[in-house]
Amino acid sequence: MLTKDTAICIRCVDYSETSQIVTFFARQSGKISAIAKGSKRAKSSFEGAIEIFSFGDIMFHASQEDKLSTLTEFQQKSGLSGLSRNYLCYNSSLFACELVTNLVDEHDPHPQLFDDFVQFLKDVQTAASQNETISLLIYFQLSLLREIGLQPVLNECANCKNKYDQKWFDVYFSNSANGIICKDCDMSFPDKAKITRQAAYCLANLKNIPKANEQTLNQVERIIINLLASHMQKMPKMAKYILGK
Ligand SMILES: [Zn+2]
Repeated sequence: MLTKDTAICIRCVDYSETSQIVTFFARQSGKISAIAKGSKRAKSSFEGAIEIFSFGDIMFHASQEDKLSTLTEFQQKSGLSGLSRNYLCYNSSLFACELVTNLVDEHDPHPQLFDDFVQFLKDVQTAASQNETISLLIYFQLSLLREIGLQPVLNECANCKNKYDQKWFDVYFSNSANGIICKDCDMSFPDKAKITRQAAYCLANLKNIPKANEQTLNQVERIIINLLASHMQKMPKMAKYILGK
């Protein structure tokens, strides 16, 4: 069956002198792996070799499950050529890519997440500061968690449902509870970690993230990275380039 979709390349490896195996995140089809025969030839139907973040309209022969699809056409669009303008922008984009690769199942469509991913990549190219880049990354990570059904509880205690209040003196975060935990409940969650009041305030009031200072943003990002790592059951490879920036 020939399928048409809009897609972005999230991984590609050489298969032979002239061909590549490409993993796409496609708007309607979800994550798919396809062989792009002849993609490295000077004249191909894919407008040149395919790279990570190549983006546009694809046509492919869908395969039976677990087998590679065959890419027949790729009309690449411009608009994501500014991702390598600085290390943090590029590393944040690679990090977002790693999360999609690891947390989205093959053939499981997530059109909203696809739109959020492309928008994140477009916005991060023009971020005016490191803080803005990290803010955009945090928003993308939270939208990813929401879209895959793992949205954390951030404005009330994930255990007793007590509404978060800025006056809370001790605030904790527990990956197993998937959210913030109040001081009355912290004993029930051995994996909890105390978080700063500023980080708790940002998590409970996400619109304030862009106004937070660098230290608070790093704390929030660290909390989210640890949560993502618990879902992935390993630390994402790109995490150290974000936290050690
Ligand atoms: Zn509680």
